[in-house]
Amino acid sequence: MIPYGRQDITQADIDAVVGVLQSDFLTQGPMVPRFEQTVAQHVGASHALAVNSATSALHIACLALGLGQGDWLWTSPVTFVASANCGLYCGAQVDFVDIDPRTYNLCPKALELKLAQAERDGTLPKVVVAVHLCGQPCDMQAIQELAQRYGFKVIEDASHAIGGKYRGEFIGNCRYSDITVFSFHPVKIITTAEGGMTLTNNAELASRMALLRSHGITRDPTQMTHDADGPWYYQQIDLGFNYRMTELQAALGVSQMERLDQYVGRRHQLAARYNELLARLPITRPWQHPDSYSGLHLYVIRLQLDKIGRSHRQAVDLLRGMGIGVNLHYIPVHTQPYYQRMGFHVGDFPESERYYAEAISLPMFQTMSEEQQDDVIAAVRKVTAP
Ligand SMILES: *Cc1c(COP(=O)(O)O)cnc(C)c1O
Repeated sequence: MIPYGRQDITQADIDAVVGVLQSDFLTQGPMVPRFEQTVAQHVGASHALAVNSATSALHIACLALGLGQGDWLWTSPVTFVASANCGLYCGAQVDFVDIDPRTYNLCPKALELKLAQAERDGTLPKVVVAVHLCGQPCDMQAIQELAQRYGFKVIEDASHAIGGKYRGEFIGNCRYSDITVFSFHPVKIITTAEGGMTLTNNAELASRMALLRSHGITRDPTQMTHDADGPWYYQQIDLGFNYRMTELQAALGVSQMERLDQYVGRRHQLAARYNELLARLPITRPWQHPDSYSGLHLYVIRLQLDKIGRSHRQAVDLLRGMGIGVNLHYIPVHTQPYYQRMGFHVGDFPESERYYAEAISLPMFQTMSEEQQDDVIAAVRKVTAP
């Protein structure tokens, strides 16, 4: 089976991890700060905090922005559940903004309309999570302008988008947001096995997230209520978690970062080849906004079902039967049973549901060969025949 995504682990990666195993620190050593500096410098952010997953990163990002009971978090329905769940972790309520039918990202016009209504109802969001689906950035300038007008905070869920650019600058520099989050799960662009990171240019947010990452504990005398009792002393000044990344993971991350630009470049080559060789089939290929350079975590096609002799489900089953590990990103979050119990219904976000009825993620990973890609293309041609 050709998987839809797969990590690339080199001998240099293995040596880096083994080096940590033989060192004094398996956790809380020098490698995590080194990974943080490497990523922060690469993308152009002032502060970076490595954590054990993007899910944890989203959680502490929301808490640092003050999200809590009585507040609202809004995001796109077409995302992994973690982009919405982070609001629920904080006791806030979650709502969704439908997608743009071309980019599949949260639609800024739908956002504007919903904000105007929420202002009348007194239910404006405190946080909007902008998900860069497939690696293509959201319309961040429009979102930032609305954030200023309506007073909400912006988190970029850039789990798909490390290495990509918006208007010529790396995603993660937080020019249009308060906090950006990356994921390093093995299917994503670079990996630390499990792992994530939050980035910000705001020192206070960075310091709050650093506390939340490790139990709410500080060893910084300027943050304590009184002088230290002795050299062993620390104070818990907030309720935090253990969301720390290990040294092994950070060493793998530092090593993977060396190949980030190469990885994204390879994904662009593969996407260009898909674009060319799938051009005449009854499918909609990904639309690339001219303003941005996608991280290209995913290559999603949409079936033009009126021109194809089979259903979406039949096409997926046939592709899998032919050894093509296609997938679907994502089941709209508001249709999940947990969210339906909160009052959401099928039909609430029609563009997202239409997308779900037609979308298929084709295999896309840096080590994919042209032969493998040709197999995928031949199979897609077969299942999309009239
Ligand atoms: C993968 C992913 C996450 C969660 O990442 P983890 O590191 O697995 O916690 C969150 N949001 C999006 C959009 C993702 O794709």
